Amino acid sequence: MIEQQDEAARKSALIALIRELHRGSKAKAIIEAFEASLTAHEPDERGNILEYWIDFYRLRRYQRDRRRRRASFRERISPCSACGYPSSQRHHLWDVATHGENRVTIQLCANCHELQHLMYNALVKDSEHSRKIALHIAKSGKISPETLKRLIGWCAATIRYEANQGWVAEWRAEWGWIRRIFGDIAAPTEAQDGA
Ligand SMILES: [Zn+2]
Ligand SMILES: [Zn+2]
Repeated sequence: MIEQQDEAARKSALIALIRELHRGSKAKAIIEAFEASLTAHEPDERGNILEYWIDFYRLRRYQRDRRRRRASFRERISPCSACGYPSSQRHHLWDVATHGENRVTIQLCANCHELQHLMYNALVKDSEHSRKIALHIAKSGKISPETLKRLIGWCAATIRYEANQGWVAEWRAEWGWIRRIFGDIAAPTEAQDGA
């Protein structure tokens, strides 16, 4: 019984996504094709198929939304929040895939933006490649200690948020871990240490 409800909920989620992404007759044709192919599968297979296609269309929607929202002129000329460079991009502290377009953003210039993502990948995805590049940039002398400190602070805030959601392990948001990955460039203030 529960499984049937589950399947019905998934199916209506999938149909809603298809209708959001395709116009009337095309959406109808796609939905009909799904109905037909689902009846040809066992119930437990149907669950997997529905999950797969829900993910697929969510990704499509995310890609569409990203394309659609072009930054305004005013946004592009607002200075980088980390280093002050006079042009910037929007960086989401909460990921767009899960939360959709949201206001939890900071403006970062192209360089700081890249560095922010390298740091994140090193801290959350254990990317040694990203860690090495981030350290190379951080130690180049081209970036001020204040800028680095801000970037690491924001990165830690994102990870703390994701840990609170249960998406990443708690320890990844701790300063002990961040210092282990980035060494002396990751020296938090005492206030951050206590957090
Ligand atoms: Zn910058
Ligand atoms: Zn970003």
